Amino acid sequence: MSRLVVVSNRTADPRKSAAGGLAVAVKESLQQTGGLWFGWSGKIRSETDAAEGSQDLRRQTVGRVTLATLDLDQHDHDTYYLGYANGVLWPVFHYRLDLAKFDVQFAAGYRRVNQLFARKLMPLLKPDDLIWVHDYHLIPLAAELRAMGCTNRIGFFLHIPMPPPPIMAAIPEHEWLMRSLFAYDLVGFQCELDVTHFAAYVESEAQAERLDRNHLRAFNRTLHVAAYPIGIDVDEFVNLANGKEGRETFEAMREEYSRRRLLIGVDRLDYSKGLPQRVHAFRELLAQYPENRNSATLIQIASPSREDVDAYDNLRRQMDSLCGAINGDYGELDWMPVRYIHRNVARKRLPGLYRASRVALVTPLRDGMNLVAKEYIAAQDPADPGMLVLSRFAGAAEQLKEALLVNPYDAQGTAQAIERALTMSQEERVNRHAALLDRIRKQDVHWWCNAFLDALKGTETTAVASP
Ligand code: UDP
Repeated sequence: MSRLVVVSNRTADPRKSAAGGLAVAVKESLQQTGGLWFGWSGKIRSETDAAEGSQDLRRQTVGRVTLATLDLDQHDHDTYYLGYANGVLWPVFHYRLDLAKFDVQFAAGYRRVNQLFARKLMPLLKPDDLIWVHDYHLIPLAAELRAMGCTNRIGFFLHIPMPPPPIMAAIPEHEWLMRSLFAYDLVGFQCELDVTHFAAYVESEAQAERLDRNHLRAFNRTLHVAAYPIGIDVDEFVNLANGKEGRETFEAMREEYSRRRLLIGVDRLDYSKGLPQRVHAFRELLAQYPENRNSATLIQIASPSREDVDAYDNLRRQMDSLCGAINGDYGELDWMPVRYIHRNVARKRLPGLYRASRVALVTPLRDGMNLVAKEYIAAQDPADPGMLVLSRFAGAAEQLKEALLVNPYDAQGTAQAIERALTMSQEERVNRHAALLDRIRKQDVHWWCNAFLDALKGTETTAVASP
């Protein structure tokens, strides 16, 4: 069996469930194959180390898995991570050209760190390793590895959305970025719309030939592309819901809100999540359907995120002001419409909170997938489930058709859908939930990992291509 090598911006100890997301997803395959997980340590290299020129890899063995990490220089961190990854690629790939800060220094830092990753990874590779690179931080990594002679199978998964061609084309380095993807053997996206956007881009900008739905030929290479919607570990989440903390949180919330109807939102405080629009829609609900006053309560958890990027500071101020205004305008002595919590809530407390909530509001303006939507479904009591109100612009919307799909820019329409969710009959909720649960069980995180790796194993061995 080939060894799996996972490369991502950050690594995590795969034994800890708090590691979440990617760690849960790749842990089994890494353990089975005695795999290697390579990435940035999350630390900045001291000035003394930087002056001495050493950039040593730190290795840690966790069960059968080796974690190999390296520190970054302050300048590399600021240009590669804050500048290009989070200041250019994140906003543009979420269709927010207005928030992108284009700067040649950022692009240079991004390329430099990808070269550094390739240089440090290359000596660790064995000939039949299967390499799986994750996310927008590392788009050019395969091209850099190929330039050093790497002929392994290399797959790439983009966790965030792929924007349509005219938006992508606004990035000054768009040609280089998209061409770099052809150094992979397989490129996976979250949903079919992303595949469509990528194919449209390379067909129009690089005269790629579409061999079939999943194969594109350009730059003398044939690339396999497909959608692999990422899932959650449904059983792990159900166990969390039934565990001690899950039940305690559920009971505490039910008691506290016995006379109210609870709505829940759980997001990082990120401009892609549509949080101000959500508060507007909730306000509209109270205005249009006054029977919800003194009753409907939105708990909005917005966990702190990337506070050293300017756009996030503005969003924080905007949310403070919107939540203050709605509570000031509609609040009563014994009821506040919005409880806004700008802190991270421990993962093990979330299932109880989800289960106690009649409705979940998952209304991003754009999202690669959105795992909270799937977690909410998994945490429900199938005999009396809550209802999911989901943005049509979340990748999850392609799979979760039985949710109430909304346009988050349309406050009235979203308010109507929330009202519908709050008043939906138990029979309809049970039927919709059963279909949703079935889908997230079939396409769970194990399915996602295996489907991607099986496809990668099935690709032709690659020839060396120049970046
Ligand atoms: N999450 C958490 N505590 C919080 C907020 C979020 O544990 O206070 C978790 C949440 O359960 C989910 C993940 O963070 O697993 C967020 O993933 P999602 O795909 O919804 O959005 P992302 O943050 O990756 O854009």
